[in-house]
Amino acid sequence: MRQNIVAGNWKMNLTYPAALALAGEITALLADAPAGALPCVVVCPPFPFLTGVGEKLPQGGPLHLGAQNCHQKESGAFTGEVSAQMLATVGCEYVILGHSERRQHFREDDELLGQKLKVALAAGLKPIFCVGESLDTREADDTFAFIAKQLKDGLFHLSNEEFAQVVIAYEPIWAIGTGKTATSAQAQEVHAFIREQVARAYTAEAAQNVSILYGGSANAQNARELFGQPDVDGGLIGGASLKAQDFVAIIRSF
Ligand code: PEP
Repeated sequence: MRQNIVAGNWKMNLTYPAALALAGEITALLADAPAGALPCVVVCPPFPFLTGVGEKLPQGGPLHLGAQNCHQKESGAFTGEVSAQMLATVGCEYVILGHSERRQHFREDDELLGQKLKVALAAGLKPIFCVGESLDTREADDTFAFIAKQLKDGLFHLSNEEFAQVVIAYEPIWAIGTGKTATSAQAQEVHAFIREQVARAYTAEAAQNVSILYGGSANAQNARELFGQPDVDGGLIGGASLKAQDFVAIIRSF
């Protein structure tokens, strides 16, 4: 069943006390929502804050814990790295993979992301797999070919069972952290295209069931229109997820 999801990517922001306060505020602001009224909410703090933030999220409610990355190996001599299994054992259910910042600054390519997907899935995590074109690609009218390649090379090597655990995030690079949001029509067009690619690679049922999130300067003002599009199943939210009131307004935009 396709799920509506709002995920907050806190990136490398906040201090530990500020992260705990933010998690507490989000929880308190959502406390009066009737059971089942909210989408699935995922908060993705930096690694050192995961356990503490996780403890702030009431068990069995709409709030879930996610990480922003994991290492591609199961375990071993990789000083400074964090494995998927470690994340699962501190309560993470989701992990963001393929974010454009990691593709750009850490040179993560499809081969590496393929390994990360495998270890994440083996650890029982649900990957939120990001795709999205640059401004140059969009202006050259290559968006659809580019996204199709990212999906084919990055994701469609998974088995049907593995793919059923994946959430896709469409994040046009030109919209991330820039204040330039894709219009709801632009987002819908690409989301529908992604769903069509999934139907071709897997089945019509898999395409109907996969959640496709929009990310890129989504905020409390534009979320309702974006989420109102038939193929937009929620959002991956950066900047606006750092303010409890704004994030909760986005969550309540369905
Ligand atoms: C992101 O980094 O995933 C993101 C969507 O950021 P922002 O909402 O700040 O554009």
